[in-house]
Amino acid sequence: MGLVMYDSTNIGDIPRDAAYVLAYVGGNPAFTQVPAARKRFPKARILGLAVASRYDAEGVDVEKGDVPNALVPGWVKRQLERGVHRPVVYTSAANVATIVKLLASNGVLRSQVRILSAHYNYKKHVCSPNACGYPTADGTQWTNRSGGHHLDESFLLDDFFAAAPKPKPVPVPPKPTPAPTPTPVPPKPAPTPGVVNRYLRITDKDGSDTYLPYTKLARLRRGIQFSRGKFNGLAVVNEKV
Ligand SMILES: [Zn+2]
Repeated sequence: MGLVMYDSTNIGDIPRDAAYVLAYVGGNPAFTQVPAARKRFPKARILGLAVASRYDAEGVDVEKGDVPNALVPGWVKRQLERGVHRPVVYTSAANVATIVKLLASNGVLRSQVRILSAHYNYKKHVCSPNACGYPTADGTQWTNRSGGHHLDESFLLDDFFAAAPKPKPVPVPPKPTPAPTPTPVPPKPAPTPGVVNRYLRITDKDGSDTYLPYTKLARLRRGIQFSRGKFNGLAVVNEKV
């Protein structure tokens, strides 16, 4: 499939039914084509191409008399920062490898830009090692005399104008499992004033221990009688806490 895009220094030369139009941005006012292109091709997708690095646009024209290689990384980064999805770098097929390397050395990945190569072999193609031997482009301006006119024609990959993918929703982390409520540890019996630090450990027949303050009241509550140290054959021990 692929998409067909036209451009010309005279937009009047571009077919009226063009769906994709490349238009220059900046420079000589007579050279600023975007408003006129929008008017003439209201339904077309217009790709603005900056002819100097000081202009913001969707793409940049990297060739003699326009933007030099050295200014491309800065221009691309500026466009990325202002939200342009994959800014377009238009340059000759012979310059693509240099540009890609220069961008990479400035931290810009190949996938972050679209390469629109100019390769006038007059065969409708998108540059790639298999197609023509040049590095892989996203679109190629393959003729400067489309239909025998003074008209440039580019062939673009189907997804050339694909919108930026929507950001994936950030997964909500699962709520942490609440820590199990610790079983309350029964407090040690508080020392009874006046009988401080004296406790009885009564070991019952089932082996369980009970601590009681060493008071008459404790003895009565348990309903037991004991003499110090002995109770029905069970150990009665004074404990200090
Ligand atoms: Zn090519």
